[in-house]
Amino acid sequence: MSPVPLKNAEPAHGGVRTVSVLGATGSIGDSTMDLIRAEPERYQVEALTGNANVAGLAKLAKEFSARFVAVADPARLGELRAALAGTDVACGAGESAVIEAAARPADWVMAAISGAAGLKPALAAVDRGTTVALANKECLVCAGDFFMSRATAAGAQILPADSEHNALFQALASGNRHELTRVIITASGGPFRTWAAADIEQATLAQALKHPNWSMGQKITIDSASMMNKGLEVIEASYLFALSPDEIDVLVHPQSIVHGLVEFADRSVVAQLGAPDMRIPIAHCLGFPDRITGRAAKLDLAKIGQLTFEAPDFTRFPGLRLAYDALRTGNGATTVYNAANEVAVAAFIAQKIRFGAIARLVEDTLNSWVRAGNQAPLGSADDAIALDQQARNLAATLLPQIAAKAS
Ligand code: NAD
Ligand code: MG
Repeated sequence: MSPVPLKNAEPAHGGVRTVSVLGATGSIGDSTMDLIRAEPERYQVEALTGNANVAGLAKLAKEFSARFVAVADPARLGELRAALAGTDVACGAGESAVIEAAARPADWVMAAISGAAGLKPALAAVDRGTTVALANKECLVCAGDFFMSRATAAGAQILPADSEHNALFQALASGNRHELTRVIITASGGPFRTWAAADIEQATLAQALKHPNWSMGQKITIDSASMMNKGLEVIEASYLFALSPDEIDVLVHPQSIVHGLVEFADRSVVAQLGAPDMRIPIAHCLGFPDRITGRAAKLDLAKIGQLTFEAPDFTRFPGLRLAYDALRTGNGATTVYNAANEVAVAAFIAQKIRFGAIARLVEDTLNSWVRAGNQAPLGSADDAIALDQQARNLAATLLPQIAAKAS
C-alpha cells in the first residue's frame, strides 16, 4: 500500500545554516534567538544588530558566538567595544555598520528592525540574493513594488514572517495563482475592539499598550490598537503576493488563532491556525522548506472552545480604510501612509497628540500630498527614502494643527 504522497520525502536542508538577525534585541529578535537557542548545532550566527541596547546585544553576541555585531547608535561604539572585550566578535556602529551586518554572508537573514529604518539593511540582504525572513512590514510598505522587484532581480527569496502573511504563504501552497479568488487576513481587533469612537479618541498610552493576545514591540502594539497594523498588513499582502486591494479582506477574530485564509475558485478555503506566538511563523521561515520543532504551545482547540469572527469597522478604525485608499492611489502613497503613521505614533508616545489624532494626521498628510500632485512610481530605494523623508516633514508640519484641534 502506498500512502498519500506528501510534498518532500527528504529534508531539503542538511548541515549548518548561517543566520543573521537584524533587530536581534527586539521582540521578534528575541523569538528568533529562542528558536536558534533550542537547536544550536543547526545554526552559525553570522551577524546581530540592535539600535541602542549594547548590553543586550553583547550578551547575545557572546552566547551565540556571533562573528559581527552592529549597534545603530553611532555614539555607542566605545561601549560596544568594551562590552565585547576579550572576545573575537567584530563590531561596528551607525547605520553603515547595520547595513554591513546585513550584507555579510548568511544563508538566512531575519529582517526585524522596526520602522522604515529597516529598509536599507533589508535591501542589503536582498541584494546578496539570500533568503530573507521579513518581519519588518514598514520597509515593504515604504518601498512599494520596488522591494519585491529588487528581490526578484537579485534572486533573493522573501519568506513572510508576519503571522498573517506567513499563514497566507502556507495556505497559498495548496493552489495556483489563477485559482485564487481572495485572501483574508485576521485581526484581533486590539484593546479597543468594542470601544465607542469617543472613547477610542481619548485612549491613553497605557491602554493602547495593553494588547489582548500578542506580546510585541511598542510601535506595533500601538498600530494594533489603531488597526494601522492591519492597514500596513493589507499593503504588505498586496506587495508580497502581487494582489489587488479587492483581493484582500480583513476579518476581525478576537482569539488570534486563525491567522490567514485563502479562498480558491472551487470555494475551498484553506487556513493556517496556531497559538498567538510569533515563534510559529518564525519557525516556519527558519526551517523552510523543511519544518523544524517549534517552541510555542500546541494548539488545543477543545480548550479554546470558540473561535469568533466579525467584520472590521472602518469608521471607528479609519486607519484601515486609509490603507486601502493609499494602495488604490499607488505611486508612493503607501510610503506616505507609513511615514505619517510613524510620525503620528511617535507624537502619541510623546503625548503630543491624542490617540484619535493618529489616523487624522495620516489622512491629512495623505490628502495634502495628493493635492500637491507629486505622485510618481518609486524607481529606487533612494526614491522611497526621499519620499519617506518628505512625508515625515509634511506630517511634522501638519502635526501642530492636528494637536491643537479637538476631535
Ligand atoms: P521591537 O521594537 O521590539 O524591536 C525592534 C528592533 O529594531 C530592536 O532590535 C531595535 O533595537 C531595532 N531598531 C529600532 N530602531 C532602529 C533603527 N533606527 N536602526 C536600527 N535598528 C533599530 O519591535 P518588534 O515588535 O520586534 O517588531 C519588529 C518588526 O517586526 C516591526 O516592523 C514589526 O511591525 C514587525 N512585526 C512584529 C511582530 C511582533 O509580534 N512583535 C509581529 C509581526 C511583525
Ligand atoms: Mg501581523
